[in-house]
Amino acid sequence: MNTQDEAKSADVCPKCGAKLGEVVTTKSGKKLQRCSAGSWNEETKKNEGCPFVKWLPFEPVTLDEKCPKCGAPLIMTMTRFNKKLKKCSTNVWDPLTKKASGCDYMEWVKGTTEELDEDCPKCGSKLVLFTTAAGKRMKKCSTNKWDKESKSAVGCDYIELLN
Ligand SMILES: [Zn+2]
Ligand SMILES: [Zn+2]
Ligand SMILES: [Zn+2]
Repeated sequence: MNTQDEAKSADVCPKCGAKLGEVVTTKSGKKLQRCSAGSWNEETKKNEGCPFVKWLPFEPVTLDEKCPKCGAPLIMTMTRFNKKLKKCSTNVWDPLTKKASGCDYMEWVKGTTEELDEDCPKCGSKLVLFTTAAGKRMKKCSTNKWDKESKSAVGCDYIELLN
């Protein structure tokens, strides 16, 4: 594939040939473009029209956290396999020497939870958006917790998978 082909296919939906819409950022910081022939219906929570979504590469973000090894700021990045990774900002890949230099601290990011301004349809408590380390997202009821003593989930069991 040459560069021209790539640029062309970049804004056209491979499913229906319509133009892709504007780049939007999800709550978990990922960027996507939806097919303009499709739209997200907030009321039915369903995709209408063409369901094509193009996920854009994750751009590394500098975090407000210090590297435990050397004290430099940490950055959040994502691997090819959609796993989130925190690593030291002094760690850089040198394409000339084909070697990584700087501090080698890294840490896999486990799932994250964000509070949502939405009520649970089952019990009326607030929902939270849970993102697994692999980038899967689901809405869960905030009352749903893991009880270490009984080794079982407690609270409301409402869950809605998003992707
Ligand atoms: Zn389409
Ligand atoms: Zn470091
Ligand atoms: Zn609930």
